[in-house]
Amino acid sequence: MNDQLQQDLSTLDSLLEKIKTQGLDYIKNLHGRPTTAVSAIEINKDLGETGLGGLGALKRFNEKFEPLMVGSGGPRYWGFVTGGSTPASIAGDWLSTIYDQNTQSTSGQGDLSALVEVETIKLLLGLLGLPGDFLGGFVTGATMSNFTCLAVARQWAGKAMGKDFAKDGVSGEINILSALPHSSVLKSLSMLGIGSNHFERVKVLPGNRESIDTEDLEARIRALGGEPFILISSAGTVNTVDFDDFAAIAKLKTTYNFWWHIDAAFGAFAACSPKYRHLLDGWEKADSITLDCHKWLNVPYESAVFLVKEQHKVLQTETFQNSNAPYLGDPLENFSYLNFLPENSRRLKALPAWFSLTAYGKKGYRDIVENSVEMASLFSQFVEENEAFELLAPTRLNNVCFTLGGQRGQDKVAAFLTRLNATGKVFMTPTVYNGRKGIRAAFVNWMTGKGDIEIVIAEMKKLTAEE
Ligand SMILES: *Cc1c(COP(=O)(O)O)cnc(C)c1O
Repeated sequence: MNDQLQQDLSTLDSLLEKIKTQGLDYIKNLHGRPTTAVSAIEINKDLGETGLGGLGALKRFNEKFEPLMVGSGGPRYWGFVTGGSTPASIAGDWLSTIYDQNTQSTSGQGDLSALVEVETIKLLLGLLGLPGDFLGGFVTGATMSNFTCLAVARQWAGKAMGKDFAKDGVSGEINILSALPHSSVLKSLSMLGIGSNHFERVKVLPGNRESIDTEDLEARIRALGGEPFILISSAGTVNTVDFDDFAAIAKLKTTYNFWWHIDAAFGAFAACSPKYRHLLDGWEKADSITLDCHKWLNVPYESAVFLVKEQHKVLQTETFQNSNAPYLGDPLENFSYLNFLPENSRRLKALPAWFSLTAYGKKGYRDIVENSVEMASLFSQFVEENEAFELLAPTRLNNVCFTLGGQRGQDKVAAFLTRLNATGKVFMTPTVYNGRKGIRAAFVNWMTGKGDIEIVIAEMKKLTAEE
């Protein structure tokens, strides 16, 4: 064995102790950690002949990169839709690394860690009140989940047209209907060879809504004259967290022939609370659903889940089977994730979610979701009551979409957001809603409390007073 590896193995104890102490220190001070980093570092292009050893690498990281680490897992990182990591999920994540399984199969010999994944999917279905007839697995993010689900949808559409896209490549017209697809859905259509321009935009409901107009949808379906199509719907748009009417779509599904996908990246977790569960009524009839775990489930990146109805198992294996490896056996008989999703080799991705679900249960997640909504509503109240600001849309759930009030507000939004983020006390993202420039604050972090809202309000008041 190489000397340095030998040395590190014998001092692993002290390396892990140091990491533990440092990690604890980071988490305990997450409230005070700046939300914005200064990026002035020099990129090293040369790997030395002799390494620094584990402790040396840690020292180098701490000198050079550690100051770049922002408090994105903390309570005031409201940009994008950014979750943190619950204590139990950190434990699960660390153990995923320690055990270093190659998670694929659930039967036969060798690694069987995929059983952890199968169980985690069952626990998630239970948390969200979804039926057991979904087959699910972990991928890196909701983008890859949308990709995975839509890849199976593509194969379905091909079959309905008498083609096998997985074998012969994509050809002909694939009809896709959607109202406000997330940018990652368009990226997925691009990666799938369908093309991000290649969808028909369905109207949304009038009056500050982002929800699909089901009458317009039905009219467009009729116009397709019985051709198969894929419907991509939303459970939680990023600007105003609007939901499509799933009960109405479920009803359409009894009449028309289509693949129904729901991007429920974070909106799915509304189902954790009896107060908001109704927003998802009917979603169990979908063919596929995207869930992001590194958002409202509050587990570390990279964690998301695809759910595809078990009845589409054959389409899914046609799409993803690693067909030229005969030792893997019949994909339908010997279940292996290898034949059901994009990756082949993969870590024990489900373990952080398994830990967190097991540690906090349904009540834990109901509390997280209800607290997030309460925090959003507190912040929204401030925006509404302060004349320097204006809500761009009513706050429906956990995101607040607002802008600067008054005549000259539009010209100043970008500069205001830059100054606000530069305080390092909070991070929000720019957006455009109904043609107006705005700012979005998303609440999904398990730690966020009233004190955090007060800190941000104070900063915003300070900035407007300086104008
Ligand atoms: C965040 C998000 C995505 C993309 O998720 P990643 O985890 O960043 O890949 C897709 N859809 C919706 C609705 C989202 O909020």
